Amino acid sequence: MTGPLQNRPFSAGSGSLRFIVAFGVVAFVLLGLLASGLRPLLARDDSQRPTGTAAKSPFDGARAYETLERICALGPRPADSESLGQTRSLILDTLEGTGLKTRVHEFDAETPIGVVPMVNIVGEIAGTKRGVIVLSGHYDTKRMDDIAFIGANDGGASAAWLLEFARAIGNQREGRTVWIVFYDGEEAFGEWSDTNGIFGSRAFVEHVKETGEIDNVHAVLNVDMIGDCYLGVQRDIASPTWMQTAVWGKARELGYEGHFLNSGTAITDDHIPFRLAGVPAMNLIDFQYGGSSVDHERTWHTENDTIDKCCPESLQVVGDVVYHALDTLETYLDAGLRN
Ligand SMILES: [Zn+2]
Repeated sequence: MTGPLQNRPFSAGSGSLRFIVAFGVVAFVLLGLLASGLRPLLARDDSQRPTGTAAKSPFDGARAYETLERICALGPRPADSESLGQTRSLILDTLEGTGLKTRVHEFDAETPIGVVPMVNIVGEIAGTKRGVIVLSGHYDTKRMDDIAFIGANDGGASAAWLLEFARAIGNQREGRTVWIVFYDGEEAFGEWSDTNGIFGSRAFVEHVKETGEIDNVHAVLNVDMIGDCYLGVQRDIASPTWMQTAVWGKARELGYEGHFLNSGTAITDDHIPFRLAGVPAMNLIDFQYGGSSVDHERTWHTENDTIDKCCPESLQVVGDVVYHALDTLETYLDAGLRN
């Protein structure tokens, strides 16, 4: 007993030394991993901030931003509010001013607070070919009784971007018809669930099923929260690969790979009802508002979602990419790609 006991301090000492060295190496590696993992959490990624971006398409980011300012000036815009009615007039006036045929789809949504009347808006860019491509987004903001929720990025940016896209293309184009669709009631009343949220797109898909028009819809591209000054759009991993190739390939070609990231996500948004109906659909969303997870928590669905967090350059980047990707999508559709 004495021998081993006498030996113990020495062997234990060499054991602890090995342990300390091994622990040090593991801790070093873990800290490194943690630091790189924490970066998107804590520090803003400045490379996601587009600056001095010259337009690479007829889409005008500055004009889209002016529209966004006008929309935000109307105040909070929840479903069935006077300010959402004013937003609707602005949308319809702009679409009609651009010569687009418009259509309103009114419906009653069954929500947790009762029946809420809602209105989707469609602007039609007439094509030369059979088939429709839907470009969509929501124009309502989340109803929040305790704060003045402006929703500059969440609800405002998608509406302003879609309006500018309509103006950039005009009332007709070579290729498939494009429907620019503005959804009401994307936002949930209180907590999101399968039956609480995306009221507009769910009702719209039911509507085009009834009219039989759904068979003519070939692809859907939905945008949301794309005004973020720190623009980072993740791949919608649940969307068809050929749609990802079309959009991300164009982003790379235009030098925007810093904003169209290679990481992926799948978020329930207004593209889902079409996807469930069998139509190829993709969502373009920057769901890290403000460039870091901490900023996202501070901003998304809070009173901080204001116009100063949105940038014309970000709207421009997405405008350029989608403008050019549209032609690639058509090529793929012509080649028979569907799902
Ligand atoms: Zn929202």
